[in-house]
Amino acid sequence: QELVAFYLSQIQNLSDLNAFLEVFSEESIQKAEIIQEKIINGTAGKLAGMVIGIKDNISYKGHKISAASKMLENYTAVYSATVVDRLLAEDAIIIGRLNCDEFAMGASNETSYFGPVKNFANRNKVSGGSSGGSAVAVQANMCLASLGTDTGGSIRQPAAFCGVIGIKPTYSRVSRYGVIAYASSFDQVGPITRSVEDAALLLEVLAGRDENDNISSGKAVPEYSRFSKNTPKKIAYIEETLNSEGLDPEIKRNIEGQIEKLKVLGHIVEPVSFKYLDYVVAAYYILTTAESSSNLSRYDGVHFGYRSEKATDLESTYKLSRSEGFGEEVKRRIMLGTFVLSAGYYDAYYARAQKVRRLIKEKMEEILDNYDFVLTPTTPGPAFDIGAKKTDPLEAYLADIFTVIASLTGLPAISVPCGTTEEGLPIGIQFIGKSFEEDKLLSFSKDYL
Ligand code: GLN
Repeated sequence: QELVAFYLSQIQNLSDLNAFLEVFSEESIQKAEIIQEKIINGTAGKLAGMVIGIKDNISYKGHKISAASKMLENYTAVYSATVVDRLLAEDAIIIGRLNCDEFAMGASNETSYFGPVKNFANRNKVSGGSSGGSAVAVQANMCLASLGTDTGGSIRQPAAFCGVIGIKPTYSRVSRYGVIAYASSFDQVGPITRSVEDAALLLEVLAGRDENDNISSGKAVPEYSRFSKNTPKKIAYIEETLNSEGLDPEIKRNIEGQIEKLKVLGHIVEPVSFKYLDYVVAAYYILTTAESSSNLSRYDGVHFGYRSEKATDLESTYKLSRSEGFGEEVKRRIMLGTFVLSAGYYDAYYARAQKVRRLIKEKMEEILDNYDFVLTPTTPGPAFDIGAKKTDPLEAYLADIFTVIASLTGLPAISVPCGTTEEGLPIGIQFIGKSFEEDKLLSFSKDYL
């Protein structure tokens, strides 16, 4: 009860950060009372005492869910996502819904219909995105942990910008049921936390087969929170990432320092070449916009969501509702996605990007045959000024270069804070693991931090 009261006051005092879209105050206070009883009786679940915020693209029955879009501004979830059910079954308290980029499309939280989230390290800087609210809520102690979703970096990148931990599990490790789809062959839910222990405990609860998500894996879920004993690791760093044009010199220096530190700790750290780095962003954006143009076709102004008042017939219902309901970035992606899928262009773009995806996957797997992890900076630069990249979408897309590698390949990846810039902005380091080896990533990160 004290924890809930504490977080509620934090949320109120720091409301200018714009991290929360809605706070479930009354409900949380009531739940705390019930869970407190359970703790006394010894019947509480393993997340009792954990106060958690959820990204606003994760359904929680009876609560609003907007995907930070005008399209779903007044929409109420009719069922809960499996991840929400699993949190509640273990007595976590869900304290509210968190701001994000519209339909999780973006890397700065600036595409949200409800405005950007401010970085608690410096309020003029972006939070990162798309799970910007999820990262800042944890960074600013407005909840213990949060759930984000990661399609191309949306857990790891804001975690890096905010100095917290974010893990994207192996694709299919965590159920996507009840999560608003962006690009279905990429989307994964994962925790954002201040400690690796919390990340491990949460992932242990979230992961596992779900009959409602037919691609979810039936592999047994390890007890991540028990942490295996670490042995020296073989780690590859992608040479091209450290020589890439857009890499901020301070980040480069920091990551080179991390490599030296890892060696001193007894790990083998070696450079590898990954010649596809120049193609990852293009492949990612062709495939994800294609998938999203299909996923977002359901918002037609008829079944649910926003409907234009000016509509007079079916055609104008579609056109006006979508024109008025979606923001600029979402429209850009629907158009790009429809284009790459259209007759005459399909083979040149979509089919080709799928082939590139396969090559990238094979190459990464080949590297991981010889190494435990692949290391990269999480982001090419630290958090930037709010508004600075709004006019140049391409520049914004290029900033996803290091995170989309794990997304295209489905591999698990974690971002761990590893220092700050001279200006005091957090820096993150990313470790990509082998499929379903989240346990190793977590154990290693715990000792590394
Ligand atoms: N920035 C990337 C994009 O806009 C990643 C978003 C995400 O992971 N949801 O597609």
